Amino acid sequence: MTANIAIYPGSFDPITHGHVNIVERGLQIFDKVVIVVAVNSAKQTVFRLEERLELLNEIFKDNDRVIVDGFTDQLLINYAKSRNAKAILRGLRTVSDYEYEFQMAHANRHLAPDIDTIFMMTESKYSHLSSTLIKEIVRYGGSCQDMLDPRVETALNKKLKQG
Ligand code: ADP
Repeated sequence: MTANIAIYPGSFDPITHGHVNIVERGLQIFDKVVIVVAVNSAKQTVFRLEERLELLNEIFKDNDRVIVDGFTDQLLINYAKSRNAKAILRGLRTVSDYEYEFQMAHANRHLAPDIDTIFMMTESKYSHLSSTLIKEIVRYGGSCQDMLDPRVETALNKKLKQG
């Protein structure tokens, strides 16, 4: 039997407990979740692609149902096809996430009707959490306990101190 695969795309700059929660819940539905780190030239990131991949690999190193990969210069839907994915997994936090997600899901559906986008409502304790917010907190010396893996927090502290 072929494995049911979902791809979970995002910037993961850096990965938060909110992302981990979506991956864990995705694994309750799918056999494998492929975390795809997107390089978006319009988005300036704190961590380079290789650094984001390294942190993700570290966090999921004990879970062989999670695959970490990076992708550049191709349509996400073509990447999903190349992985034989059944679905694209996305998290939804607030209504402001909705408009963009709605547009992307329709575009992807148009391009590949047999690959569905599955949305998961964020767990309420993570609904305020975004990588952007976390970077602000750490930049100004706040603690991100309960929001980030300590290894990620250490890496972020180091990165932001380097300026
Ligand atoms: P961000 O918006 O934090 O920069 P990404 O581009 O890395 O996030 O997001 C990848 C996916 O993870 C998106 O579907 C996003 O909605 C989802 N996501 C991000 N943070 C959370 C969270 N706290 N809870 C649930 N889903 C989340």
